[in-house]
Amino acid sequence: MYDYIIVGAGSAGCVLANRLSEDPDVRVLLLEAGPSDWHPFVHMPAGLAKLVGQKGVNWNYNTAPQASLGNRSLWWPRGKVLGGSSSINAMCYIRGNARDYDEWDDLGARGWYWDNVLPYFKRAEGNARGASRLHGGDGPLGVSDPVYQNPLSPVFIEAAHQAGHPLTDDFNGESQDGFGWYQTTTRNGARSSAATAYLKPARGRKNLKVITKALAQRVVFEDGHATGVVYSVHGKGYCEVARREVLLCGGAINSPQLLMLSGIGPSAHLRQHGIEVLVDSPGVGGNLQDHLDICAIQACTQRVTYDRISDVRVALEYYLRHKGPGTSNIAETGGFLRSRFAEDDRPDIQFHFVPAQLDDHGRHRLPGDGYTLHACYLRPRSRGRVWLASANPADKVRIEAGYLGDSEGRDLKMMAECVRLSREILAQPAFAPFRGKELFPGEQVQGEAAIVDFIRRKAESIYHPVGTCRMGADDDRSAVLDPQLRVRGVTGLRVVDASVMPKLVGGNTNAPTIMIAERAADLIRGKS
Ligand SMILES: Cc1cc2nc3c(=O)[nH]c(=O)nc-3n(C[C@H](O)[C@H](O)[C@H](O)COP(=O)(O)OP(=O)(O)OC[C@H]3O[C@@H](n4cnc5c(N)ncnc54)[C@H](O)[C@@H]3O)c2cc1C
Repeated sequence: MYDYIIVGAGSAGCVLANRLSEDPDVRVLLLEAGPSDWHPFVHMPAGLAKLVGQKGVNWNYNTAPQASLGNRSLWWPRGKVLGGSSSINAMCYIRGNARDYDEWDDLGARGWYWDNVLPYFKRAEGNARGASRLHGGDGPLGVSDPVYQNPLSPVFIEAAHQAGHPLTDDFNGESQDGFGWYQTTTRNGARSSAATAYLKPARGRKNLKVITKALAQRVVFEDGHATGVVYSVHGKGYCEVARREVLLCGGAINSPQLLMLSGIGPSAHLRQHGIEVLVDSPGVGGNLQDHLDICAIQACTQRVTYDRISDVRVALEYYLRHKGPGTSNIAETGGFLRSRFAEDDRPDIQFHFVPAQLDDHGRHRLPGDGYTLHACYLRPRSRGRVWLASANPADKVRIEAGYLGDSEGRDLKMMAECVRLSREILAQPAFAPFRGKELFPGEQVQGEAAIVDFIRRKAESIYHPVGTCRMGADDDRSAVLDPQLRVRGVTGLRVVDASVMPKLVGGNTNAPTIMIAERAADLIRGKS
């Protein structure tokens, strides 16, 4: 018998496993559907490019065909391994904008305002630059400046400056605006995933048990109280009992699936799949938000990109000396800006510069050398939904991503602005010694109609789905959770992961998810 059962050893689940098992009198079980994180490509930062093809550590979701995107199904990678998506992500350490959290509080997630969440960001953070008013210096999550710099990365920063944008040396500092180097979730040149940062140091504790390749199938209830979890390992079924709480940390796709499989969700939809309704909770699976992204790709006239770099040389230098391109997260630089359409004083567009050709997430290899500028609109109005495809826990859910679905067409207008601004930066003199042909959008793509067509053909996810089990105020029927992350309508059950966000933050989502879990640990222990 355990005190807590945690489902999912991702960004949030590993934090909870560590924090809750700090008390030797508390017994914790952590169930993870994927395998251990033994694969060397998980730990060498540049290995992320190779992980794209590793089926064994990825749920490999695809959205339903998107009418607004030429009926394409977009690839949604999600980590299925210890560390979850933090073991396969691009490691950019970004918190979003301080005002995003004040907005959460305004939306009914009381207590999640900036001044109240900042201590949890700091508690998590082990920034190699040391501690300061806004940063933590000795937290479990390694955060560092680049060890290796591709020659094109400073060129990008210079080009952004030439285009009139300010520079910054800290996207998580007093102001988020500007262009510069990303700090990454790395330590001594290796990836600092939630598993290496939080789980590994706790693995020796006798009161923490971790079971990998364990697929949670449903939560068990007695008189409306969550008492355990049914799961399977290699097709064999098991059930474990939780004395205190069951904590779902399966991420924005799987946590709503598990709630629905357990009888908590939109009642008509559950009945359609023959699932007995425990709580009619219309918000489960709804409010799905993601950052849609568009890439401009330019051929490069010099052989300085990561396109044709020798894998063997990179791996040797990395494993022998922990140096060189192997330490790079590839997206070394980027920026945040307020476009001419920004609705308030927060940045509304983010850039990631990649000194390589990144077509179709790197799954489609283009010949020669080139560089890619990703741009995404940070404040999408479109919303999607996750639906059950069947009552079988092994079946993938149906993801209606809802991209570009807002009635005012603002999201599409902003994607076009992303393309315009990307081209403007790539056209600056700093790139002159390297600039070859424009491959995407392509020189023939001019004018509004052609750019919109390009977006519909080529836009992709930049991997930030959130919001499908959102928290909110008591009188909000569509809020799945209360602000303490407790599932409404039952007791003994919380959701703790990216799905709880009421609204997508203006930036990448790993650090915010880790912050959520750090604060959740205190809420669970009655310390907050
Ligand atoms: C390719 C990629 C690049 C990204 N790049 C960045 C970046 O550079 N910076 C950044 O900040 N963010 C980035 N992100 C996003 C960030 O990593 C995620 O938002 C964050 O990791 C989500 O954390 P989570 O705890 O909600 O879910 P996850 O970390 O995905 O964890 C969920 C875990 O639950 C397990 N699980 C699910 N269902 C079950 C079940 N039924 N039974 C047992 N286990 C289950 C999963 O296998 C997984 O391990 C990226 C994501 C991806 C995929």
